[in-house]
Amino acid sequence: MATLEENPVCPLYISGKWLSIAGKSNSPVFNPSRGTVIASVPMCGPEEVAMAVASAQSAFPAWRDTPPNERAQVLFRAKILLEDAFEDLCLGIATEHGKTLSEARGDLRRGIEVVEYACGIPTLLMGESLENIARGIDCHTDRHPLGVVAGICPFNFPALVPMWMWPLAIACGNTFILKPSEKVPLTMQRVVALLEKAGLPPGVMNIVHGGREVVDAILEHPDVKAVSFVGSTPVAREIHRKGTLHGKRVQAAGGAKNFIILMPDADVERTVEAVKDAAFGCAGERCMAGSTAVAVGDAGKRLLPALADIVSAMRVGPTDVREIQPDMGAVISAEHKARVSGLIDAGEHAGGKILSDGRNPDITSAPEGFFLGPTLIDEVSQTSPLMATEVFGPVLAVMRAKTLEEAIASANRQAFGNGAAIFTNSGKAAREFRRNVNAGMVGINVGVPAPLAYFPFSGWNDSFFGDLHIQGKEGVEFYTQRKTTTTRWFSFGDGEIWAK
Ligand code: NAD
Repeated sequence: MATLEENPVCPLYISGKWLSIAGKSNSPVFNPSRGTVIASVPMCGPEEVAMAVASAQSAFPAWRDTPPNERAQVLFRAKILLEDAFEDLCLGIATEHGKTLSEARGDLRRGIEVVEYACGIPTLLMGESLENIARGIDCHTDRHPLGVVAGICPFNFPALVPMWMWPLAIACGNTFILKPSEKVPLTMQRVVALLEKAGLPPGVMNIVHGGREVVDAILEHPDVKAVSFVGSTPVAREIHRKGTLHGKRVQAAGGAKNFIILMPDADVERTVEAVKDAAFGCAGERCMAGSTAVAVGDAGKRLLPALADIVSAMRVGPTDVREIQPDMGAVISAEHKARVSGLIDAGEHAGGKILSDGRNPDITSAPEGFFLGPTLIDEVSQTSPLMATEVFGPVLAVMRAKTLEEAIASANRQAFGNGAAIFTNSGKAAREFRRNVNAGMVGINVGVPAPLAYFPFSGWNDSFFGDLHIQGKEGVEFYTQRKTTTTRWFSFGDGEIWAK
């Protein structure tokens, strides 16, 4: 047994115990601001998954039978502990991920909001009833947990994405196996230590680490009833296929390429500020990042010079020091930095005009960090690889369109369907866009239309595989199954007191 402080190899968390395991290959965890290794994760497989499932399975009957209001009390206590540790957790997020402290605060705040939503579980679980569906017969439905469920997470939101999953899953009475991203495993380790302090019984939450092998073992284990996945589209598609093949309920959120339509009547100052945040917030490593702007009519002439000015003025640098924070931090790895740079090169070779070049930023305070500056590139050909793939980095490509219809058609040509936004003062244009764009989350003068905890995170097309989305009422639906009971009583019973 080892704590995180004693051992830089991340332990597993099984049956309420932190377990160090030997004999596995380890994958490094970096501080992207410095390019240094700060911990490592063991690459687990079927053996560790079997241990985690056995732990979750044995905790399930008692947790299922714990009244929902008592389960909510554990989450209330967890929420208080999370608030107490808020700033330290955020510095940890900034350190293992590279995003700024203020972005880390957003990451954790949105996650805590899911805990708050899950605290309402007694109401959320309520069923429906109808008396006298036939003479003397009543009918009601109630919701039951599924059993052992699992969550597999990406790197880009070390707090929020796991917290899209476990608060509702355990509030509904399930027991949980979390597989954090191998790139950012530390935040959830700290959060789960707080859950333990909040009184979560052993086995209700479990952590395993690793990559494909451990994920496959989760998908193939017969006692795992449901899997929530968030990550890139090829993996999401495969997880959905394999998970459903093994009889599981699966929700799998994938990648994105979000379009922002700029109309000629958009408010210049507020639009450029919002577009800058949408494209370069979290260094573009957001599934809701605005990655392509379509300037309609003379919107380009009105907006682009101002946008180029504020983008070029962004300060880039390390985020792991509380006192000195930049506007934008590092990307997750050296490989990702090289990939994004290559896509910018491809966009330029395809005729794109660079208005702000982020390829070689000079970060003297952290020369080994995985930094890219913000790149704004105009008039990129739609056939360039920059336009054909999810970039997931600090790059905003701009295209031109003559009409709103043409702009919507460009947005609808790509295979993803996560977010899309329009900036305009015209209600008619906004309505046309909202109705016709093929995306599940739409922003009207809002650059990052990411829904809060009580709404579903409703990606479409290649951005989501499954039926029930993450969060909100769909989340409750996903983690429960309904039972419908039809009741008829033939007599009052025997004995004097029942005599009529
Ligand atoms: P990723 O797909 O590489 O990894 C996600 C998870 O899957 C990780 O835990 C990883 O260990 C595991 N994994 C990776 N390859 C696997 C394989 N072949 N088989 C089984 N498991 C595998 O994603 P990432 O790079 O960590 O995260 C970035 C991606 O996540 C982007 O595409 C982004 O758009 C997406 N994302 C989507 C949403 C959403 O709500 N749609 C939210 C956040 C991130």
